[in-house]
Amino acid sequence: MFSECCLWKGRPMFSASEGLNPVVSLMPGFRNTESRRLLLEKGINVDLCFQCRKCASGCWASDLMDLNPTQIVHAVRLGLDDLALGSKSIWLCTKCATCTARCPQGVDIAKVSFVLRSLAHRRGIPSKLPSVTAFDRAFARNMTIFGRVYEFGLINQLRMATRNFRQDSELAMPMIFKGKIKFLPSLAGFFGMRRLKSRAKACGKAGERQAKEGLDS
Ligand code: SF4
Ligand code: SF4
Repeated sequence: MFSECCLWKGRPMFSASEGLNPVVSLMPGFRNTESRRLLLEKGINVDLCFQCRKCASGCWASDLMDLNPTQIVHAVRLGLDDLALGSKSIWLCTKCATCTARCPQGVDIAKVSFVLRSLAHRRGIPSKLPSVTAFDRAFARNMTIFGRVYEFGLINQLRMATRNFRQDSELAMPMIFKGKIKFLPSLAGFFGMRRLKSRAKACGKAGERQAKEGLDS
């Protein structure tokens, strides 16, 4: 499916400064999809990609992926959202940013995976790697509550979510003895996070008030 839709035949479809050639953008494959719009909002123009494959050749996970980073970028360019969002690759990506550093066109490919993951979450598209999704959720919950990773809580949340209670259990004791895993979370982090949230809330309210006053005057 991907190769059938591939429009790249060595033609100069775009320039580094201007992005996609306007004529090419009218071709049937190039649709204004949600992923493309979201990426543009975040300053990522996938149309700058000229398929050099430097990203794919530098990606440690490329061989494990169903679509390598070059193909993911191209799928988005072709408007094949379902293909990109349903891929295993966006869940395998560890955001190491090697691809981003290697891209001669300055396409932030690591961020592409991140945006596609969020979009897949939002659309309710099931992850091809549920354990990665479970880790994402547990990590985000941890950070929201404690402001930093509380490893013991994270491990237990992950185990409950994946129902895998034995994985890496042999590593637990040595890590506990070395003080790498603490049973209790950091109270400083917890209260710091609470302060941060209430300050953000107060700033939000002040901003709303100012905006309202500005509209009234
Ligand atoms: S950020 Fe993701 S896609 Fe890019 S090199 Fe790292 S693992 Fe591969
Ligand atoms: S390195 Fe950049 S230009 Fe090359 S294929 Fe990857 S995204 Fe496209």
